[in-house]
Amino acid sequence: MISYLNGHYLPKGEIAISPDDRGFLFADGLYEVMRSYDGEIFQPQAHIERLSYGAEQLRFQQMEFSFLIEVAEELIGRNQLNRGDAIIYIQVTRGIAPRLHKFPPPGTSLTVYATIRPFQPKTDEMTEGINVIFVPDQRWARTDIKSIGLLPNVLAQQRAMENNAAEAVFIRDGAITEGTRSNFFAVIGGTVITRPRTNYILAGITRKMVIEICQKSSIPFQERSIFETEAHEAQELFIAGTTVEVTPVVQIEGKNVGNGKPGPITMKLQKAFAELVHGTIEVTEKNFRNKY
Ligand code: PLP
Repeated sequence: MISYLNGHYLPKGEIAISPDDRGFLFADGLYEVMRSYDGEIFQPQAHIERLSYGAEQLRFQQMEFSFLIEVAEELIGRNQLNRGDAIIYIQVTRGIAPRLHKFPPPGTSLTVYATIRPFQPKTDEMTEGINVIFVPDQRWARTDIKSIGLLPNVLAQQRAMENNAAEAVFIRDGAITEGTRSNFFAVIGGTVITRPRTNYILAGITRKMVIEICQKSSIPFQERSIFETEAHEAQELFIAGTTVEVTPVVQIEGKNVGNGKPGPITMKLQKAFAELVHGTIEVTEKNFRNKY
């Protein structure tokens, strides 16, 4: 696989990162995960804007990352991933410097890394639904920043796997925040509900799309906290994210949600999201060549 590091395209195996990189030493970095469908990146600008927001919040010296859209397109082309789905992974750290907590001297370049891999969506989970577990949200209070410091997510996801669950959902003060790699939604009394955007959740791009679909399709929608107790009583639950798209949650810790089957509103949103993904693909000259 050809990857990208600081302006260079190299076979992934030849890429070396310094042990003094602040990403390695302090998890002082950000990441983004974008998806491409038949070579077309979904909402690239939104991912770059979120990366810039994180860079601003972390007071990085550079906050302009739109060049990474071109890098991602290069990775698709160089790795011949114009067909099928792929995941593009971007990681930006505060760069290389002797190990001191304070920021490195002005002029220290950020480390910018990007890679790609083919992606096989979990269609069985999307059609049949998943089991989730609830775990205490032990993350820091700035989870609106897509930080590479993911230890609570790693531990929670591992616990999910050990309990035959596909996702762990974080609970803070009795209310659901989000999943380890997804935003969380409930359908209660016919209304689609998700937690408002604050410092406690990531502003998911799929979340935004789901909200737009609700608004366009006149599906009642509300942003408010969902309490853990309410989730058990909800008619439908689902998660939303770049890798999971819209995936129904049919069990919490092995207990059925509703009748234990994906709900009608969830499936309607899943279908609408798929239409949106494929409908937004403009037939540019490049696409046209790749597809026909
Ligand atoms: N919340 C968390 C903690 C995530 O890690 C992710 C995605 O990685 C999401 C939500 C969903 O965000 P998006 O839809 O932009 O992928």
